[in-house]
Amino acid sequence: MHHFLARLTRSVPRGALLAAVCVACAASAHAAAPAPAPAPAPAPASVTEPAFAWPGGARAAVSLAYDDALDSQLDNALPTLDRHGIKGTFYLQLSSPPVAARLPAWRAAAARGHELGNHSLFHQCSGKGPDRGWVAAHRDLATTSRAQMVDQVLLANTMLEAIDGRRERTYTAPCGDVQALGGDYLPALRPAFVAIKAGNGPGVPASMAAVDPYQVASVGPVGASGAELIALVEQAVARGTMVAFTFHGIGGDHLSVSSQAHEELVRYLAAHRDVVWTDTFINIMQHLRQQVTQAQARLPGWTLAWSDEFSGATLDRTIWTLETGGHGWGNNEMQFYTARPENVRVEDGHLVIEARKERYEGKDYTSARLKTAGLKETQYGRFEARIKVPKGQGIWPAFWMLGADIGKAGWPRSGEIDIMEIIGKEPRNAYGTLHGPGYSGEHAFSKPIALDGADYGDDFHVFAVEWEPQAIRWYRDGVHYHTATPALVKGDWVFEHPFFVLLNLAVGGYWPGYPDSTTAFPRRMLVDYVRVYRKDAAPAP
Ligand SMILES: [Zn+2]
Repeated sequence: MHHFLARLTRSVPRGALLAAVCVACAASAHAAAPAPAPAPAPAPASVTEPAFAWPGGARAAVSLAYDDALDSQLDNALPTLDRHGIKGTFYLQLSSPPVAARLPAWRAAAARGHELGNHSLFHQCSGKGPDRGWVAAHRDLATTSRAQMVDQVLLANTMLEAIDGRRERTYTAPCGDVQALGGDYLPALRPAFVAIKAGNGPGVPASMAAVDPYQVASVGPVGASGAELIALVEQAVARGTMVAFTFHGIGGDHLSVSSQAHEELVRYLAAHRDVVWTDTFINIMQHLRQQVTQAQARLPGWTLAWSDEFSGATLDRTIWTLETGGHGWGNNEMQFYTARPENVRVEDGHLVIEARKERYEGKDYTSARLKTAGLKETQYGRFEARIKVPKGQGIWPAFWMLGADIGKAGWPRSGEIDIMEIIGKEPRNAYGTLHGPGYSGEHAFSKPIALDGADYGDDFHVFAVEWEPQAIRWYRDGVHYHTATPALVKGDWVFEHPFFVLLNLAVGGYWPGYPDSTTAFPRRMLVDYVRVYRKDAAPAP
């Protein structure tokens, strides 16, 4: 270990390495002009910053990726990777001839654990600029509309699924270009991808905190030696970060690196598995996202039991069930709850529950209601969500819990803990409420917390309860405003058993009243996350 680290002070050779991704990674066979020398890398992260945790105690992660779907990758790169047991990522430009010609070989690579990434259908790069004479007019990103690019890239995901059967995907923007006709096309792709490589930046990040999974810069080595490639890995180890390599040809094709240099790098990575975690780009990015979530969710004195950050492309059905129906739900509510994406979806990192004014199954409105019953049932802890509620007369968003024994015990003996309810006619009040036998409905044990100078619907707020034996406390943005104990409620205390979580957006009801001419539709409730924590055991005295 000491021996290895001692060599890290060596500086990274310049010249042959391109810090930017894919400077001319099209089908043109001519080599790109050397890029300007990379900007000096930022200083390593401060020693006081906790090291980013890589799996197995590794000091850095390395992704080996190969763009454009080239013959030399199947002929030279893959056999090397397989011989050393290293997994790589192949970004297929689906119109590249070796895709059609050698489909079984790509499929077999995926079956062996390599990643097939999305590199678009037609590899549109900007035709602007002196080095872009090779861009065909019909494949010029600058004249392809943003919507058309998004359509094509999403179609490429479907085609890749037909090859490898996988639904989770990463994307590499051809040439690192993002400006289509009408603007940057990448933001609209985010919900469909785990991570995206695009743009320029330092090849080896100074800190993992600086890495945005939706704008990862990579290193595009052309003609580099094995020693030069290994030096970049050592730099990543010294910084505790990562290096994402984007290769093109290996021992052939365009923008190539020799088979020997590639072999030296892969052999080195295989020999240093204890220090360097080499894996597919998607696995590395999944790990990064998990670590970021855990860091954001960290709460002293508590351990995260489960959470949904709503960062994927679809609703996590291992956590949520959708309840459907239009029977008024005991409150004379006016909506029909559906499971359609019009009413419930995950989008841009949020759960979206959308109430719409439309005739549906005999009702005049639609919306959605989610619960964790049977999937996540928890007794005690901190239950927290960051929510932006919609505004409007007759609109009734809620984040709440029901006793998991409701089917047997019935309501209200099952117990109900309302962590947040806001009714449109009181836009500056959020209610925390307990329902139990003898204190339910309009007699519930309830208290509002007012917001000064703003409506709850203006912004996100964090709503939470801390629930322990014989006590429940309500918080809004960290402010404790309501407490329930057995002595305070006017009936039996029914909160010593597991509960499940619900999120819903009702339209109309006895309590909020009904929409009127001032109520605009659609109305959206946005949930940034739901997090459930277990309290840590108190330290021994
Ligand atoms: Zn490319």
